[in-house]
Amino acid sequence: LHPHLFSEIDIGPMRVRNRILSTGHQTYLSRGGRPSEHMVAYHEARARGGAGLIITESARFHESSLSDAPDLTIHEDSAIAPFAALAEAVHRHGARIIGQLSHAGRVTRRMGDGMRGIVYAPSPVAEHRNHVVPREMPAGMVEEVIAAAAEGARRYRDAGYDGVELMASHGLLFAQFLNPRVNRRSDRFGGALENRMRPLADSLAAIRRSVGPGMALGLRISAEELELDGLERPEVIEICHRLAGAGLVDYINVTIGSMAGLGSSVHVVPPMELSPAYVATGAAAIRAALDIPVLVAGRINDSGVAERVLAAGQADMVAMTRALITDPDLPNKVLTGRMDEVRACIGCNQACIGHFHSGHAISCIQSPRTGRELRLPGPETARHPLKVMVVGGGPAGLRAAITAAEDGHDVTLHEAAPAPGGQARLAQMLPGRAEFGGLITNLLGEAGRLGITLKTGSRVDAAMITAEAPDFVVLATGSTMLPPEIEGEGTVLPFEEVLTGRARTGARVLVCDWRCDWVGIGMAMRLAAEGCHVRLAVNGATAGQTIPQYVRDHWIGRLHEAGIEVIPYARLFGVEDGTAYLAHAASDQPILCEEVDSVVLINGRASDTALADEVARLGLPCVCVGDCNTARTAEEAIFEGLAMTRRALRK
Ligand code: SF4
Repeated sequence: LHPHLFSEIDIGPMRVRNRILSTGHQTYLSRGGRPSEHMVAYHEARARGGAGLIITESARFHESSLSDAPDLTIHEDSAIAPFAALAEAVHRHGARIIGQLSHAGRVTRRMGDGMRGIVYAPSPVAEHRNHVVPREMPAGMVEEVIAAAAEGARRYRDAGYDGVELMASHGLLFAQFLNPRVNRRSDRFGGALENRMRPLADSLAAIRRSVGPGMALGLRISAEELELDGLERPEVIEICHRLAGAGLVDYINVTIGSMAGLGSSVHVVPPMELSPAYVATGAAAIRAALDIPVLVAGRINDSGVAERVLAAGQADMVAMTRALITDPDLPNKVLTGRMDEVRACIGCNQACIGHFHSGHAISCIQSPRTGRELRLPGPETARHPLKVMVVGGGPAGLRAAITAAEDGHDVTLHEAAPAPGGQARLAQMLPGRAEFGGLITNLLGEAGRLGITLKTGSRVDAAMITAEAPDFVVLATGSTMLPPEIEGEGTVLPFEEVLTGRARTGARVLVCDWRCDWVGIGMAMRLAAEGCHVRLAVNGATAGQTIPQYVRDHWIGRLHEAGIEVIPYARLFGVEDGTAYLAHAASDQPILCEEVDSVVLINGRASDTALADEVARLGLPCVCVGDCNTARTAEEAIFEGLAMTRRALRK
C-alpha cells in the first residue's frame, strides 16, 4: 500500500525514511523566542507518529524583521541549546528536522518595535493587507541580512538540525526582492533578475559556506503568489532553475499565495473549499525544470491523494501538515493498514491557523490534545469502570462519550434526533462546508471502534435516567436559537428552517447574521446561488468577523462576486410586509431596508439545561459539556467534551 509514500528519499546529504513532511507553521508555542517544552512535545508527537521530516516554524535571524507574533528567533548563540532539545526529541523517533530562516520585510503589522522601529523592505511599495508602506532597506543592511542568514544557519547546525530552509515564499522579504513590481531599486539588488536574485543567491551561498556540506539546504517559494502585483509562475520557475543550476539548493519546497494580499492570503493555509492537492500542478511545473527534489504543500490531507501526487511525478515529498496536526499518528496508521483509524483533517482552519490569528497556541478543532500534549492527559484505564450515560450526540456529547470509553467505562449515548451530529450536521449543508461533516464521520468512527452504544431518536427524561441507572451522567443537550425581539407583523424565518428546506424564502431576502460567523455567509451564498437577491446584515464590522482572517477575506470576495450587499453594524428591530427596519448598531440611526420578501435570522443561542435539575434531583454525579453550558463553537464543544469529562470521571 502506498509504495511511493513510504519509500526513502535522499535530499542533499540527508536521507529521509518516507515522503511525509510537516512544513514550518507558526505554533505560538515558543517562549522568549525559543522552543518551549510544549513545542518540543508537539513536534515529538508528530515524529513519533511516523512523519519523515519535520520542518520547524520560521525563525527570525535578523533584528530588522518585525513581527507581532511570538516567533522563534535565532540571531543569538543562546538559541542553540533550546533548538538542540527540539532536534534531539525529533531524532529520537527517527525523523529528520529542518529549520526555517525567515524575514518578513513589508509583511508585518508591527511598526513600533524591533530594530529602530522601522519596517524595511526592498522599496517603499505598500503592502495590501496590513497597509504598511516600508522604508527602502539600505544596501549595507541587505549585506547584514545575508551575513545573518549564514549565522542563523550555523546555529541550526550547532543545534544538531539536519537542514535549513530559507523562506522566499508568501511574499516575504526574499520574494519582495525577487519581484520587479515590488522591488523598484536601481542598485545591485534591483533591476535585472540577476540583481533581484542577489540577496537570495548570496544568502544561500553564504549559508553553504557557513554550514559546510553536511546539511540539506532548501528554499521555500510560492509557485505563484496569486496577487495583482505578485510573482508569477514563469518567473518562479526561472528563479528555481537558476538557483538549482548554480548548485545553491538541495531542494525546493513549493507552496502558493502571499501574505501580502487580501485575496491571495487564503492560499497560505487553504481551507476546505479549495481542492485537495491543487498546488501539485505548480510543483510539477517547477520539478520539470530542475533535477533536485521538489516538496509540495496545499490541502494534501489524505494518504491516497498524497500517493497519487508522488506516483504522478508531481513532487518528491508531500506536506501533510494539517493532516498531522489533526492526527500525529497518521503515517504509522497508514503504514500498518489502519487507514480507517485516521482522524482526517477537514480543512476548517479554526484551531490551527485560526488560533494563530487569534493569538493562541496551535490546536485542532477535532484533536484538543494538539498543542496541549503536556497539559491534557491522555487515555488511562479506569480502576473501577462506570456505567456512563451521555445525553446528546452533537460534537461535545460524542467526544465526551469517546473520552469515557477510552478510559474503559461502559458508555451509552442518547441522541434525540434521528442522526447524531447536532449543529455540525447543519454546518455541512452550507456552500463550501461539506467537509465539515467529516468531523461527525471521524467521531462516529471512533465511537464505533470503542463499542459505545448509540441510541438515536432517544429523548431522555428523568424516568429514562432512573430506568437506565447510570453511575455517571454527561449532559450535552445543546442549545436552541433565541427568538427575535422585534416589532411589526412581518415574519422572520429561523435559518435552520431555510437550510433544511422546511421553510422557503421569497426572491428578495435579508439575512440577519447576529453571530458574524460562517453561517451568515453560507446562508447568503446559498440563497444567492438559488437565484435570490440577497442582502446580508451583520452586527459587526464585516461578515464573518469571528472567523480566521485569511478565510474571511476570501469569503468577503466571494460575497462581492455573488452580488450580495453586506450591511455592517446592523441591528434588526422591526419587520413589516416588504420592509425590514434596521438600526446602525453604533449610532442607533435607522436604516430602512425595503423590497424584502423574507427575513432570515441567525441569532444567538440559549442553553438547553432542562435535564440538569432532574439529574441533580436524582443525586447522580454529572458534568455538562458544550452548548448546554453556554453557546460554543464546535472546537470549544469538543474541547469540553474531552477535558471536562476526563477531569470529572477521574475525580
Ligand atoms: Fe484541520 Fe481544522 Fe484541525 Fe486545522 S483545526 S488541523 S483545518 S481539522
